[in-house]
Amino acid sequence: MSAPNKSYDPVEVEALKPEQIERMRDEALAAFAAADSLDALQEAKVAHTGGASPLALANREIGALPPHAKADAGKRVGQARGAVNKGLAARQAELEAERDARVLVEEAVDVTLPHDRVPPGARHPLTTLSERIEDIFVAMGYEVAEGPEAEAEWFNFDALNIGPDHPARGEADTFFVRTTSDSGSAAGSGGTESGVVLRTHTSPVQIRSALDRELPVYVICPGRVYRTDELDATHTPVFHQVELLAIDEGLTMADLKGTLDHMVQSLFGAEMKTRLRPNFFPFTEPSAEMDMLCYVCRGASVGNPDRPCRTCSSEGWIELGGCGMVNPRVLTACGVDPEKYSGFAFGFGIERMLMFRHNVEDMRDMVEGDVRFTRPFGMEI
Ligand SMILES: [Zn+2]
Repeated sequence: MSAPNKSYDPVEVEALKPEQIERMRDEALAAFAAADSLDALQEAKVAHTGGASPLALANREIGALPPHAKADAGKRVGQARGAVNKGLAARQAELEAERDARVLVEEAVDVTLPHDRVPPGARHPLTTLSERIEDIFVAMGYEVAEGPEAEAEWFNFDALNIGPDHPARGEADTFFVRTTSDSGSAAGSGGTESGVVLRTHTSPVQIRSALDRELPVYVICPGRVYRTDELDATHTPVFHQVELLAIDEGLTMADLKGTLDHMVQSLFGAEMKTRLRPNFFPFTEPSAEMDMLCYVCRGASVGNPDRPCRTCSSEGWIELGGCGMVNPRVLTACGVDPEKYSGFAFGFGIERMLMFRHNVEDMRDMVEGDVRFTRPFGMEI
């Protein structure tokens, strides 16, 4: 029986001596404490807990010990490694908290600073309102029609039953680009050519549409029109209209009324309605002014002094525009047989609609191009 091999006594293995294990542990903890950044800590971690670290190497020595010595040495190394891992985790948490606190300070954003010195513009509300109205009619099968703004006098007046003596043809209302006498002398044709005007309404587009298209015709004509008005709070020499024309067999005033009701309900809400008042226009017969229910008081201000309404002056209704059944003479001018077909038409100013839909009080705001006016409409598409 041989004596125990002394060299396997853990005390005799240099790396497993208690003071050596303690030294390794203390060195590791000191290295972690000295690490002043997460990167430095990572290096210390590799050096003191990695596969080539002193404690890992000492751990390997345990396997070579005699069985009775393994438990003691294993416990010592295990405790040391536990302490090292615990110290590492604590330092890691400390350094991470420091980093987070530093990031909060260094990367702070002052949300009250102006983010952009040139804010984006916005589409003009006249454009978006016009498109919204077009959408309502396109959904009903109408087609959007356009025409020239410098228009032949014949299309702007004669075809619409506005004769040569009509006051609207005077120079007091109309911008003439070329008068009939100009064109006559220029062309030497004895004055038979039509003069040219800046169109005073979008109605000539209706005439062009009726001439160009196969029947039935359902068109909506938005566009710029011109009158010789001075620019002030309620007038502008250039403004926008939307006009509508429907020509088909069997159309009546009831179709017109239903179409108007649908439009105001789409724009202002389901309870809206319209009313028609007799009027006269050369291009429609019978003709009517169309009013819509006041969208603010819905008529509740009428005869009710306790609830006055500024929008409709407590009348309950707001005037919207003109309408009627297309005059048979206009149908004839468009080559349409008035015995077989009938039509209805209506038109109104988009500026006016914008004024009461958004409480715009001065028409000059719409034409001056100030972004402070258009920007609040920027979210509208
Ligand atoms: Zn009202």
